[in-house]
Amino acid sequence: MFLKRLEIQGFKSFAQKIEIDFEGGVTGVVGPNGSGKSNISDSVRWVLGEQSVKNLRGSKMEDVIFSGTSKRKPLGYAEVTLVLDNKDKKLPVEYSEVCVTRRVFRSGESEYYINKNSCRLKDIKELFMDTGVGKDGYSIIGQGRIDEILSSKSEDRRNIFEEAAGIVKYKTRKEEAEKKLEKTKENLLRIDDIVSELE
Ligand code: ATP
Repeated sequence: MFLKRLEIQGFKSFAQKIEIDFEGGVTGVVGPNGSGKSNISDSVRWVLGEQSVKNLRGSKMEDVIFSGTSKRKPLGYAEVTLVLDNKDKKLPVEYSEVCVTRRVFRSGESEYYINKNSCRLKDIKELFMDTGVGKDGYSIIGQGRIDEILSSKSEDRRNIFEEAAGIVKYKTRKEEAEKKLEKTKENLLRIDDIVSELE
């Protein structure tokens, strides 16, 4: 699996639609200060489901939408599509190419798509779980993340190893099942109360 293409429109400084094709090997992004280099990596993190505006260097989600310049009007939405080559089927779907799209409007409404089919953020998270690619995966290493890897705190390092070992999916499912179990226990208690009231 590898990143084939990135399509950005209306995201931060990219008012006009741009397409970046990634060839094999290493790609470097160069440009003057403030030209939008980090906005490219922000767009990758964002399309993978980043919900923290702080991690996207903004103060509210609307900040990711092109806010206009003296020559250009602000836009009403931002859209990013990430195209991955999946010939090796590392992603658990039958497609040999997977594209993930996220769109957000100024109203705050967010839309997600996998291969142009509307989906939930949860579906995108599950698609990338244990692949290292998700927004918390180790394929995106920001400055803070380097500190985390070098951290002497074992819990910080453990998250990275768990993703690499492929157990995050099971851990997440276990947590979901535990929550459901807790809720069912509460419901049972409530039913017991009602039954004893009726008796
Ligand atoms: P440096 O080399 O200094 O780290 P950079 O090339 O990484 O810079 P970025 O931080 O990616 O640059 O981009 C910053 C630019 O993006 C600023 O000029 C800022 O005005 C612009 N920008 C950020 N958000 C928006 C937005 N919502 N609308 C328009 N422009 C934006």
